[in-house]
Amino acid sequence: MKDKIKKIDITFHFTFLNVVFVIVFISLFFLFLFVPKIHLKGDYVVDININSKYVDEGVNFKKKIKTISNVNTSKLGSYEVRYVYKDKIFKYNLKRIVNVKDKEAPKIVLEGDKNQYYCPNGTYEELGYKAYDNVDKDVTSKVKVEKDDDRIIYTVKDSSNNKSQVIRKIIKKDVEAPIISLNGDDNIFLEVNGTYIEENVTVKDNCDLDTKLSITNNIDNTKVGDYTVTYEVKDKSNNKSEIMRNVKIREPLKSNTIYLTFDDGPRDGTTDVILDILKEKNVKATFFVTMNGSDSLIKRIVDEGHSIGIHTASHRYDLIYASIDNYFNDLNQVENRIYNITGVHSKLVRFPGGSSNTISKKYSEGIMSTLTRDLLNKGYQYYDWNVDSGDASFANSSTKLYNNVINNLSHDKYNVILMHDTKTYTRDALSKIIDYALSNGYSFDSIDINSMPIRQKLNN
Ligand code: ZN
Repeated sequence: MKDKIKKIDITFHFTFLNVVFVIVFISLFFLFLFVPKIHLKGDYVVDININSKYVDEGVNFKKKIKTISNVNTSKLGSYEVRYVYKDKIFKYNLKRIVNVKDKEAPKIVLEGDKNQYYCPNGTYEELGYKAYDNVDKDVTSKVKVEKDDDRIIYTVKDSSNNKSQVIRKIIKKDVEAPIISLNGDDNIFLEVNGTYIEENVTVKDNCDLDTKLSITNNIDNTKVGDYTVTYEVKDKSNNKSEIMRNVKIREPLKSNTIYLTFDDGPRDGTTDVILDILKEKNVKATFFVTMNGSDSLIKRIVDEGHSIGIHTASHRYDLIYASIDNYFNDLNQVENRIYNITGVHSKLVRFPGGSSNTISKKYSEGIMSTLTRDLLNKGYQYYDWNVDSGDASFANSSTKLYNNVINNLSHDKYNVILMHDTKTYTRDALSKIIDYALSNGYSFDSIDINSMPIRQKLNN
């Protein structure tokens, strides 16, 4: 059987028709090889989001092909991309469907927190929300708000049925502490045995009308020292707030006593002479120093038992009163100088122009109120004066200065005298002033951190 088929096969092979058939077949095969083949890259139907970028994947085709597209990505719709090719023998026309759809859900933005607490005795009030869609724009009015126990569910759909949902948890619990603020000053100065008057605090709470306030203090008004009054307040949900007030018990300045205070120095040629006179008369004074003069003068001031305080490094009003930072940077320079030379951490301060100066207003409105408070809170004390020797203004001779000082002394009060150890006429009048005072029954003393500060009224 096998042999028979073979025979027939061989016979057929050599027939004329068969030869023609084979030739046609081979020709078609080669023709097929030459026909350019074409097919789409990517899907026939492509869905893209509106306003997104459409990148056409094109076709797999070796020859240059024309692409015709009407895709508008900024408008919802169904579009076509066509790929056209034509030469003398072949013609192709393929297409792809591109659907521009809204695939993005609106966004819901809640006012307030996602976990919103409200007072135990209160009712939750809607805090508001907004919803925005990429196509429909503001869809706030379409938001459906439902309440379910401790949840508020916000749902919104855009015109393409894309849905968004946001949930807010509402919790009946007071988590906010009361807000507490001091009535009166945060730094109170009292003379020894003076009476502390409680000025109390003001308390506000988000939920409770009557909060629990406890006031404790460690004040011992019989002893010079720094004390605190602590105010602690709790609301009904046990949220706690605390605030403190500093109470400083100080030695009163003595009446019939002269406190000589010298600013702007030291200065070689004047401060050294002034120190000699004070030593000779056994009088103690207070020096508010700058960066000027020899270090040895700073050392002498301390070594000879006088008080040393900080005046200023630059003495430039436009600089030190321009900002809080400027002031403290300046102050620290002098403080460090004193410390480096003497080992004394001075916390005594005198403001250039005094605390009542109005010049500072030109550089920074209200700066003296802030500065004085900051100084006290940082542990410094500032001291003004109640007798101006005039040596920085009209009393520009030793006679004028002498007369002005002795005419302004009083036996019934303390006399804190403002002087400048940089002035030659101050140096020259000092001996006579001291002699006059001693022979008229006055005493001399210096000011220190335990002394009751003398403070002028703030004007800026
Ligand atoms: Zn000064």
